[in-house]
Amino acid sequence: METSDVIVIGAGFAGLTAARELSRRGHGVTLLEARDRIAGRTHLEEHLGRNLELGGTWVHWSQPYVWAEMGRYGINPVPGPDFTKAYWIAGGTSRQGRAEDLLELLDAPNRALLAEARRYFPLPWSPLANPEVADIDGITLSEAIDRLGLPEDQRRLLRSFWALNFNGKLDQAAYTQALRWCAAASGSWQLMFETCATFKVEGGTRRLAEAILADSTADLHLNQPVVAIVQDESGVIAQTADGQQFSARQLVLALPLSVLGDIDIQPALSPAKRQAAARGQAGRGAKLWIKVKGRQERFVAMGPENAPLNFVQAEYIDEDTTTLVCFGPDAAAIDVNDPEAAQGILDLLVPGLEVLEVAGHNWVDDEYSRSTWPMHYTGYLTGSLAELQRPEGRIRLAGSDFANGWGGFIDGAIESGLDAARAVTSALAAETARSALPTQPVLSA
Ligand SMILES: Cc1cc2nc3c(=O)[nH]c(=O)nc-3n(C[C@H](O)[C@H](O)[C@H](O)COP(=O)(O)OP(=O)(O)OC[C@H]3O[C@@H](n4cnc5c(N)ncnc54)[C@H](O)[C@@H]3O)c2cc1C
Repeated sequence: METSDVIVIGAGFAGLTAARELSRRGHGVTLLEARDRIAGRTHLEEHLGRNLELGGTWVHWSQPYVWAEMGRYGINPVPGPDFTKAYWIAGGTSRQGRAEDLLELLDAPNRALLAEARRYFPLPWSPLANPEVADIDGITLSEAIDRLGLPEDQRRLLRSFWALNFNGKLDQAAYTQALRWCAAASGSWQLMFETCATFKVEGGTRRLAEAILADSTADLHLNQPVVAIVQDESGVIAQTADGQQFSARQLVLALPLSVLGDIDIQPALSPAKRQAAARGQAGRGAKLWIKVKGRQERFVAMGPENAPLNFVQAEYIDEDTTTLVCFGPDAAAIDVNDPEAAQGILDLLVPGLEVLEVAGHNWVDDEYSRSTWPMHYTGYLTGSLAELQRPEGRIRLAGSDFANGWGGFIDGAIESGLDAARAVTSALAAETARSALPTQPVLSA
């Protein structure tokens, strides 16, 4: 059995960060990853003739943890295109205009929806600082939008915008999560939107993940899905699918919430943790890349809330082709490998585009994620988050699902990885101090 001070399970941004921090503090770290690669729900891969981000992509200086990591490794941000044209739906028909026109239409309804973001979240990285949050944590985003009494076109546009942000269905999405995002962006929905989809990582997210890994002495094992964990007073053991066992004094479980229940943990985690894991996250949508014929204008398109793709953005504009990045709220509603299906759906949003190829990854069917970006159900923030952050014996959860600030983003994963490493370091020091105490009574001279 391989033995170390700490086992970290999951080599996404949370696990990589925790492993780096712990190994730089002199602890022996074993890092176990189920996939044949690191970086989890970020994945830069070659498709459609270029390196495309199939998962997490955009970063921003309003996200302190990821920005600091980019600075640490000398990795620059890359701005996205400036959009000139927009398509949307109003009065039941397709409209076209300038990108600013669409932003203008979204302004009043978003201001109304998010007006109290800073009141409920005065300290965004302490999301439970205002106890009144409990009063609204049961409200779905669907209810919150509908109770604004907006004109119908504004209501529909706002619903579509938030189905995009949640990558999921609004009747399951927590209103508090929308308020948290906006509060983390200092109460400005425009800054929040810019944060979500403007600046990318130069060289891709893989470059940042590799830089963090290279800065660590953790012993990485790929293709090692963990199936069981046992802990007692003497330590913790993780067992992988091929029967290998790894032992340590502490363990960081840096997995998506939605897959936690797949691991047999003894003694079992608390009922509240298991219930939260069984429910998973509301982010269960799709991200799809589509290459279309011709050099298109720099456009964005927003479709109906529940269309298989409800948002399209022209991301790369080349001489003869244009590559679009698209999102939809339900992964089951679109086959990310089917260009014909993409053509039918795209026709509803933007007229006259000819689909050449598509590329994507179904993160919801993926057994190691079962969700896209972590967006919370109602009640998660006040009912589950603190409990999920509470360690149980030698086991501590980490990940974007459990972040205090930008939960759902790469930033949240890094924040949570840093927290876990700090707490594990304290736990190891406390254990060392305890074991140094004399076991026999000491007689005074
Ligand atoms: C389509 C999509 C678009 C996104 N867009 C953005 C964006 O633009 N900006 C942004 O900041 N964020 C975005 N995100 C979210 C961001 O990618 C995630 O929040 C973040 O990467 C999560 O990191 P993590 O370490 O918490 O979890 P993960 O990245 O999921 O890492 C968990 C790791 O655990 C591994 N694992 C699972 N089960 C086991 C097991 N049994 N044994 C061992 N290992 C296991 C997984 O393989 C994975 O490597 C997006 C996500 C998706 C899916």
